[in-house]
Amino acid sequence: MRILITGGAGFIGSHLAEAYLKQGDEVYVIDDLSTGSLDNLAHLQANEEYAKRLFVHVDTILNHDILLQMIGTCDVVFHMAAAVGVQYILDNPLRSIRINIRGTEMVLDLCAKFKKKVLIASSSEVYGKHLHAPLVETDNIIYGPSSKFRWSYAASKLMDEFTALAHHRENGLEAIVVRFFNTVGPRQTGTYGMVIPRLVSQALTGKDLTVYGDGEQSRTFTYVEDVVKAVMLLVKHPEAAGEVFNIGGVEEISIKDLAYKIVEKVGSSSQVKLIPYEEAFPADFEDMQRRLPSIEKLKNLTGYAPTTDLNAILDKVIEFFRNKK
Ligand code: UDP
Repeated sequence: MRILITGGAGFIGSHLAEAYLKQGDEVYVIDDLSTGSLDNLAHLQANEEYAKRLFVHVDTILNHDILLQMIGTCDVVFHMAAAVGVQYILDNPLRSIRINIRGTEMVLDLCAKFKKKVLIASSSEVYGKHLHAPLVETDNIIYGPSSKFRWSYAASKLMDEFTALAHHRENGLEAIVVRFFNTVGPRQTGTYGMVIPRLVSQALTGKDLTVYGDGEQSRTFTYVEDVVKAVMLLVKHPEAAGEVFNIGGVEEISIKDLAYKIVEKVGSSSQVKLIPYEEAFPADFEDMQRRLPSIEKLKNLTGYAPTTDLNAILDKVIEFFRNKK
């Protein structure tokens, strides 16, 4: 099969590319390298067997001619290209909205034109500021005001979901929507805010671990290879089209406890330091206090079960950063 991955040089996209190459497929990547990097694909290009089946095009998905050519000639599309990371969204609000809304609309229009199955990456951000758990795909959503720019990301991803589902309803487009919860693993960078790579590299370099607020906010974490497994199961399943699925972890942990766990695992002399939100972010920032997914829908349809727990995830990320030094 010919697999097209928009954002294929990104963290999740590059792991997905690897899985399809391992399976013997051809992989086409389009990536503007805004947050992705060719380094994420270097090990695949260095593999003689994979290099013959990996085609990387550095460009924006807003380039209609290229997108048309790539979607027209592939069998299935994974639309992973997006502005990601809380820090990136706050630093680049307009660019983020443009790529998420206009870019996704173009991808979906072309998938509908060429009748190509497409899986689009949405986000747990879509749920907004819920405190209840677990979050179910049919839950209502609660956002903050438009003066707080974090919510522009949630709103843009929500529009992506509506556009995909509308295409499914009106044109019969085989579109699947996945809401990624916090995903971690090797090659994820802490540059755009992601907590685990940030705390692990701080612990390894003897710096204070920067825990924002009171550290009582909680998350679950999913290993990137589990995420890849889930999306591969979904695109194969005939009943996934027109549906929205959470993909996330099941072990909830507060960020403060996470920081202490990382210090202990690394055997670091670093201290855990609470940083007030006003110091860490611009004034228009609001954090999410809790975010725990229900993955029943995904499990029931595909039989998916995560294989890597939080301890194993942290071990793998710590090993990655140790080897990188
Ligand atoms: N966080 C933190 N220290 C950091 C980076 C993040 O305490 O150096 C917190 C952040 O405020 C949030 C959680 O860790 O409560 C997860 O942040 P991340 O940006 O990884 O993902 P989010 O769930 O916010 O999208």
